[in-house]
Amino acid sequence: MFLWDNVVFGPIHSRRLGSSLGINISPTTVKICSFDCIYCECGWTLEKTIEPCLFLPIEKIIDAIDMKLSQCKTIGTIIDSITFSGNGEPTLHPKFDQIIDALIVLRNKYYPKTVITCLSNATQLTNERVLAALKKIENPILKLDAVSEHLFKLINKPIVAISVEKIINLLQQLHGDFILQTLFLKGEIDGQIFNNTLEPHLSLWIKVVQHIHPRKVMIYSLDRNTPAQRLEKIPFEKLVEISQKIQQIGILADAY
Ligand code: SF4
Repeated sequence: MFLWDNVVFGPIHSRRLGSSLGINISPTTVKICSFDCIYCECGWTLEKTIEPCLFLPIEKIIDAIDMKLSQCKTIGTIIDSITFSGNGEPTLHPKFDQIIDALIVLRNKYYPKTVITCLSNATQLTNERVLAALKKIENPILKLDAVSEHLFKLINKPIVAISVEKIINLLQQLHGDFILQTLFLKGEIDGQIFNNTLEPHLSLWIKVVQHIHPRKVMIYSLDRNTPAQRLEKIPFEKLVEISQKIQQIGILADAY
C-alpha cells in the first residue's frame, strides 16, 4: 500500500478535481484515521490510537505549502484545487482549523481563483472547530458509503465510537453546503458477501441523500489496490444509473 512521504504532492490530474495539488497533513510514516475502510489506498489503519504528537507541526506544513505554491506560481503551473487528502483523515490534525486559516491566506496570495477541497470521512464534525473550518472552504467532500449500521461497520470499520446514524446527523449540520462522496463496491469481507448497490440498501441511501440534500454527489468505485483482497469494482454503467436516480430527485450527481 501507498503512503505519501511529503506534505505537498503534485499537482496531479484528478478525475473529479482537475489539476489538484495534494496536501498531506497526516504523518508521513503511518496512516492515521478514524476509519479502517476495506478499500483504503493507504492500506489498513495499523495505528489505532490518535495521538496529537504523531502529527506534523503546523509550521512545517504551512512552510511547505507556501514554498510549493510560490514555485508553482513562478513557473505558471495551473492548479484547480488545493486538496487535503494524504495518509489518513486530515481533520484529525489537532490544528486543522488553524491550517485551514493559514492556507486560505496563502491561496488568496498565490492562486485566488483556486478552490480548497478537503476529503473527509465526517467523523470530526463533532468538533465545532473542525465544522467551522470546513464551512470556510469551497469543497468539503464528505464520505457516506453505507447508511445501514451493518454495512457501515463492514465497509468503513470505524475505530472510534460512532454510528452511521450519528454521521448522517452530523452531515445535516452543513445544511446541504457540501459535496457527498459514495464509493460503491461489492465482494466478501469477514466471511460476508456484500454489495452496497443492492436493494434495500440503495433505496435507503437515496432517501438519506434526499434528506441531507448535498449540493452534489460524487459516485465512484474502486480504482486502486485495496487492503482487503476479495473486493470488486462496480461497472461504470451501474454508477451512471445510480447518479441518474440522484439527478431525478433534483440533486447534482456525477459518476467517475
Ligand atoms: S476514511 Fe479515507 S483515509 Fe480513512 S480509512 Fe477510509 S479511505 Fe482510508
